Amino acid sequence: MPLTDNTVLNDTAAAQNAGSSGFKLFDTHCHFDLPELAIQQALHWQQAQLAGVAALVIPAVQQSAWQNVLQLHQQQPHWYVALGIHPWWAAEHSLDAVVELNKLLIANDTAVVAVGEIGLDYALAENSFDIQQQLFVEQLALAKQHHKPVILHHRKSQPQLLAELKRQQFNEGGILHAFSGSQQQAMAFVDLGFKLGIGGTITYERASKTRNTVQKLPLNCFVLETDAPAMPLAGFQGEVNTPAQLARVFSALCQLRKESPEVIAQQLWQNSSNVLRLRSS
Ligand SMILES: [Zn+2]
Repeated sequence: MPLTDNTVLNDTAAAQNAGSSGFKLFDTHCHFDLPELAIQQALHWQQAQLAGVAALVIPAVQQSAWQNVLQLHQQQPHWYVALGIHPWWAAEHSLDAVVELNKLLIANDTAVVAVGEIGLDYALAENSFDIQQQLFVEQLALAKQHHKPVILHHRKSQPQLLAELKRQQFNEGGILHAFSGSQQQAMAFVDLGFKLGIGGTITYERASKTRNTVQKLPLNCFVLETDAPAMPLAGFQGEVNTPAQLARVFSALCQLRKESPEVIAQQLWQNSSNVLRLRSS
């Protein structure tokens, strides 16, 4: 959906408000290469920066996107790259894609901060499960081999993801994208070196289980994310989500926590840098 002039104006004003506090935020999951955002990428980045977003990760979702996201990193070094095949696109790939992924990981070791977006989605049609599983197993093995963290997509698949992480003794950690769930579910991933990706879900009052978990776990478990252009925040349903909205996710998180916004912002930046192994910037 293209943005109307009005939306742009409102977003800019909101972004300026949200960014006036001067916090440095990291959007660890933004599909900046997808057409909904790509059409006004420069504007979205400008608004995101006004909102305090200083860096983001673009997780590619399919093989045909890999070269493009690598180019985006060339264009803007604070747009980090994850390469992988998302389970929604698994059925369009064969295992040959993993051979290509291996080559790109060797050739772009510094640009690529993670293997992702990968995972398992058991809400999809059952005939996709085989290829989903094969691609997940192979991509996880590649991440292990290249010592890269992973960005994990999950839907009705947390136990299976955990089982495979354990089976492969995967010790590189990563981000459990779009975390929702109980404290116990969260800790199972945290114990394996994962951070929980906290996004627009916590802006919905009805997400009480997730909000409760976010309130209780230590601050070093979390990273922020928008998943733009998907997952609009409460009050923005039906609109294209943008990385500037990260400031609102951050405010929602601050409302759930006892620590000061300064402490929260600093810790989340640290968590993002640590899990993606970036030199502190
Ligand atoms: Zn995603």
